[in-house]
Amino acid sequence: MNEIKDFLLQLSLIAVPMFSYHLFFKGHLKNKNHDLLVKSAFWGFSILLCMSFPLDVGGEYRLDIRIIPLLLGTLYCGWKTGIFLSFIVILYRLYSGLDLGFLNTFLTLLVAIPVILYFQKSFELAKRNKRVKIAIFLSFYYCLVGVFWLCILRGFASMNIQIQTIHFLFVLFSTWLFTTLNENIREIYQLRLEIEDAEKSRLISELTSVFAHEIRNPMQVTRGFLQLLKEPGSWDKKKDYIQISIEELDRANDVINDLLSFGKPSTSDHKKVEVCTEVRRVINIIKAYSMHQNVIIEANLSDNCWIDANPQKLKQCMINILKNAIESMPEGGTVWITCRKTEDGFVEIKIKDEGIGMTKEQVDSLGSPYYSLKESGTGLGMMVSFQIIQSLKGKVRVHSEKGIGTEFSILLPGT
Ligand code: ADP
Ligand code: MG
Repeated sequence: MNEIKDFLLQLSLIAVPMFSYHLFFKGHLKNKNHDLLVKSAFWGFSILLCMSFPLDVGGEYRLDIRIIPLLLGTLYCGWKTGIFLSFIVILYRLYSGLDLGFLNTFLTLLVAIPVILYFQKSFELAKRNKRVKIAIFLSFYYCLVGVFWLCILRGFASMNIQIQTIHFLFVLFSTWLFTTLNENIREIYQLRLEIEDAEKSRLISELTSVFAHEIRNPMQVTRGFLQLLKEPGSWDKKKDYIQISIEELDRANDVINDLLSFGKPSTSDHKKVEVCTEVRRVINIIKAYSMHQNVIIEANLSDNCWIDANPQKLKQCMINILKNAIESMPEGGTVWITCRKTEDGFVEIKIKDEGIGMTKEQVDSLGSPYYSLKESGTGLGMMVSFQIIQSLKGKVRVHSEKGIGTEFSILLPGT
């Protein structure tokens, strides 16, 4: 009975660090290397815990399932983590004493780790089911090597066959359990990113459907001035025509650039971004759409509002909220957008409309998947925006009154 208790404890020593990482760190770390470091630290911590509270089977040797964090850490994080985790195992075992058990651990790792590293690349490229199979095969192999060295070092007689068999089965079961769990969590996370991307594509296609105006206007203005240049007239006036034409073409160029950069596939990289500059780009992108809906955008932006963010995601979030604000005024109206630095180091973006507004229940439902009151709405825009704000460790407050309008205040931690 005690063995089962110990085995269950071992399971939780892997589950707790694994879920803690997913809960508190997954998707929150801006830099890929930092993410890898934290992940490796969690797997390492798990190994230390497993080795500190082993299954006491009497005699000199103790059993634990350190192979699970060692194996999954190596397979999911790569060879560097694999080497790091192997060192943790060796050093911690050495700290417990230089005995036959240490030699067993060392020799098992020496034979098992190269094979695990060899399979790491194919694991990375494999699909979900194959990954589970590779992980189970490798943990089986590791156990086999362990038992082999145990027999060599201590002789077959000293083995408790019953305990070894349970250990064997338990390791295989745990490998299946944790690899499947990890794969499920990864799938959910991946799905979330895919929804964000799909929503972005939909957003772009909706915005570009009215985009022709934005390009046609400067072209028509320039064409008009070129026509005037042909006519006789004073050079000073002509210089003005040329200047206005250049400005119009530059503006069209900016709009196209902003839209193209928004449309680029998103990376997960964060960098220092100036929010007001991004807001100006967002206004550029959405201007054609707002003009089409008879909505004026009034912006009041201060400078130097720096935050750490993925600029494309930040724009996606603001465009979603702005687009909803525009759509809440079917008869046209004004949207006010302000951006400023607060005294306590946050950057505050406010987007206010004078549209149809929402009841308290409707505000509470914002952000739930597929919640939409529009005929052709998807109800994913708000969900994606809230996810983005959350990943930036920001807060959002919505104040809305039916028939009067809505105000979104977004607070993002500044740098
Ligand atoms: P969609 O725009 O596709 O309907 P969203 O997730 O963007 O999906 O928005 C969900 C719902 O929230 C909208 O259908 C709308 O009813 C409501 N909503 C969001 N923003 C506003 C706003 N500024 N004014 C009024 N209603 C809003
Ligand atoms: Mg929307």
